[in-house]
Amino acid sequence: MAFSTSISHTCRILSSNALATHHYKHKRKIHVPFKCPCLDPLHCSPVCRLGFISQWGRKDSSKVAFSASVTDISVEKSMEKVHLRKGDLWSVHKFGGTCVGSSERIKNVAEIITNDDSERKLVVVSAMSKVTDMMYDLIQKAQSRDDSYLSALDAVLDKHRLTAFDLFEQHDLTIFLDQLHHDINNLKAMLRAIYIAGHATESFTDFVVGHGELWSAQMLATLVRQKEQNCDWMDTRDVLIVNPTSSDQVDPDLLESERRLEKWFSKNPSKIIIATGFIASTPQNIPTTLKRDGSDFSAAIMGALLRARQVTIWTDVDGIYSADPRKVSEAVILRTLSYQEAWELSYFGANVLHPRTIIPVMQYDIPIVIRNIFNLSEPGTVICQPSATENEEGQRLDSLVKGFATIDNLALVNVEGTGMAGVPGTASAIFGAVKDVGANVIMISQASSEHSVCFAVPEKEVKAVAEALQSRFRQALDAGRLSQVAVIRNCSILAAVGKKMASTPGVSATLFNALAKASINVRAIAQGCSEYNITVVLKREDCIRALRAVHSRFYLSRTTIAMGIIGPGLIGATLLDQLRDQAAVLKEEFKIDLRVMGITGSKTMLLSDVGIDLSMWRDLLREKGEVADLERFAQHVHGNHFIPNTVLVDCTADSNVASCYYNWLRKGIHMITPNKRANSGPLDQYLRLRTLQRQSYTHYFYEATVGAGLPIISTLRGLLETGDKILRIEGIFSGTLSYLFNNFVCGRAFSEVVAEAKQAGYTEPDPRDDLSGTDVARKVIILARESGLKMELSDIPVQSLVPEPLRAIASADEFMQQLPQFDEELSKERQDAEDAGEVLRYVGVVDALNQKGQVELRRYKKDHPFAQLAGSDNIIAFTTTRYKEQPLIIRGPGAGAQVTAGGIFSDILRLASYLGAPS
Ligand code: ADP
Ligand code: ASP
Ligand code: MG
Repeated sequence: MAFSTSISHTCRILSSNALATHHYKHKRKIHVPFKCPCLDPLHCSPVCRLGFISQWGRKDSSKVAFSASVTDISVEKSMEKVHLRKGDLWSVHKFGGTCVGSSERIKNVAEIITNDDSERKLVVVSAMSKVTDMMYDLIQKAQSRDDSYLSALDAVLDKHRLTAFDLFEQHDLTIFLDQLHHDINNLKAMLRAIYIAGHATESFTDFVVGHGELWSAQMLATLVRQKEQNCDWMDTRDVLIVNPTSSDQVDPDLLESERRLEKWFSKNPSKIIIATGFIASTPQNIPTTLKRDGSDFSAAIMGALLRARQVTIWTDVDGIYSADPRKVSEAVILRTLSYQEAWELSYFGANVLHPRTIIPVMQYDIPIVIRNIFNLSEPGTVICQPSATENEEGQRLDSLVKGFATIDNLALVNVEGTGMAGVPGTASAIFGAVKDVGANVIMISQASSEHSVCFAVPEKEVKAVAEALQSRFRQALDAGRLSQVAVIRNCSILAAVGKKMASTPGVSATLFNALAKASINVRAIAQGCSEYNITVVLKREDCIRALRAVHSRFYLSRTTIAMGIIGPGLIGATLLDQLRDQAAVLKEEFKIDLRVMGITGSKTMLLSDVGIDLSMWRDLLREKGEVADLERFAQHVHGNHFIPNTVLVDCTADSNVASCYYNWLRKGIHMITPNKRANSGPLDQYLRLRTLQRQSYTHYFYEATVGAGLPIISTLRGLLETGDKILRIEGIFSGTLSYLFNNFVCGRAFSEVVAEAKQAGYTEPDPRDDLSGTDVARKVIILARESGLKMELSDIPVQSLVPEPLRAIASADEFMQQLPQFDEELSKERQDAEDAGEVLRYVGVVDALNQKGQVELRRYKKDHPFAQLAGSDNIIAFTTTRYKEQPLIIRGPGAGAQVTAGGIFSDILRLASYLGAPS
């Protein structure tokens, strides 16, 4: 009590000095024609005018002698007239700790305050950043009898002294430093008392920690007064009256505070008031605080007392984000929030706003705007009553879920037992016991069977809660009516907040689906009847992962896809370059956000958490690549829980990679590949893969396995799905073999054409890989299986063009040297065909009617479409029930890196459209 009086007194020293200056000025002014000092005299309000008249009437006559006779109005009368006009004339601004964290920043704040003089301002200011922590630390040190509290107090003094040196000169500096030293001496005495007692009461603590605000408000007021004389600072302990309700909450007494504000204003009717945040008094005038981060609450109470036009909370972020931006890099600014939404978000841990800030302003419909002092161009977030039209707005998921917040360091308490069901008063007994130990219950969930009640409390309170419950229910536990009071520590709460989200079908399903996909176990769920939030309790170590998973599910484009590219060889590299060139357009125009999270070759792999910069993937892979590990690679790409979909693109021709598809699909990873191995491998494995893929709703696309980028598989599927029946598929499926026979004309030897093709890069390094026909057979088997035939690769007779004696030769070069020896046979065949008006073509055939396949050299009339080809084109003819007379023909380049990569790319876009991308 004694302390409270002394601080009120000491703080007024500065205030009364400041007043003296005012009085002096106005005393002079009274002898000249009255000139309103308001910067906008045209719009000078009656209140403003009254304000200046009233300064004459101040009772503080001890310091300034003035004559009441200059006016007819007596001192007492003028005071009565100076009442606080409220409403739109006032705006309240709150500057957080970071806004006043240094002398430069305090200057910036003063600038912002004085730059706009269109309305009266009440400015609530926090302590300089870190100062409140330093003050709590002083208490901690003193009560644990740690002598270093003295040097810690010196650090507090230094911080403010140095700031004052930067800000002020001479007169102002002396006044502030006198005040500062006086306060520090008081604090030293007080901390000494705490040190001796080894204990600090709550009011001692509140008194000490509130000094940060006293100093910052005085510094700011002095600075503002250098630009705008009509400014006073307010020690809010003189005005704000609150009743403590629990260890970390207070309720404002608005009536009494309003009465005191009127009284304060009648003595200090200034245009700008710089008020301390955080601190207040009890009805018995004992200093107290609004508890940690309470300056926002101070501002809101002041806004309500003044019926202000608006309360602006200035801080260090652009507004309220959809999730804590320190935890979710993809969080977005929310332009508007309803009071209820803002309350829920802050209650559940979005510490950009103190949760109780909403309550006082809501009743007067005063909007709160959150703005960034370091980025004035951003409009910030407006918290207000949603308009009627907004209420009727469509029920889109993203408008329903506004944001996510988390609270850590919680414990769950589970009270369980069959004896609870249907027994009135059980809940009241449980929560009565919890209340008795003063614990704060953050959320409650009860199974509808009444078999168990579980609730979350701060971890530091759980021991006392559990003991209280054990003792309260001793009898029931002994009798077995209650089976246990269990405590689960290390929990966190994740809350999803948004208008009516809980009552809209699909929202909670989406939320839980995202958690399931991230393999996160949910321990308890609560859904408030307010319909504004869904709350889940999780293991603490899962919390950030869970937050990212649910945030991305609602906020990222539905078609954000995490990609892993396996095999950055010719085709893989071309694909990566195509992705690089097209990514921006896809994102902008089609909302398809493709992010390559990993690239792996057989030796090195490159992993990224946010997406590889494709303009430099080659350098990155070379410089930052790590040892390749396919399992870790897949885990990394899929384990990135803030992206809802994963696809692995296998650009190899490797059967080991193909053998992993099953496991990957099972984990929910989509697969895209030009690799023929999986679909042309053993039939049982192929069938198992396709069955799993259909059951698991994952996608597996392999268009580029046949005809590169030509739409062969998709055409075949389209025919089958619409009920057509495949009779026969016949085609030239190899670009190399197409080239060879298109150029094997009169006068040329076959080996000569092979050499030319090899030279031009149209063949595999060993041309026997093309000439053997195996590759064509694989394509035939893929199409046969796609048409529903159950065939093995070995069921297809393949006519190899590699002469028998050359099959075992080790090197490609040797093969090429010896090939001319075998030209004669093929030359003769070609001549025979020519004589009959025909050409030779190497084709694959699926004979669906007879359930057979073939790969062989065939003769076609010169007017047949297969005879008309040029270059390395593929051509495929589908004969079906609908296309019986004239087959459906697809023709075009069927090999080469660009078209193959293009085929893979179009599979990726097909996947995006299956996932919901706009068409
Ligand atoms: P001040 O000192 O200005 O009161 P605070 O540190 O109390 O500032 O609050 C601002 C901080 O809140 C931001 O820097 C940000 O890191 C954190 N924060 C947590 N959740 C959110 C959110 N959803 N939106 C914006 N900021 C958030
Ligand atoms: N300075 C006080 C604190 O850090 C109040 C506030 O800044 O809101 O808790
Ligand atoms: Mg804050």
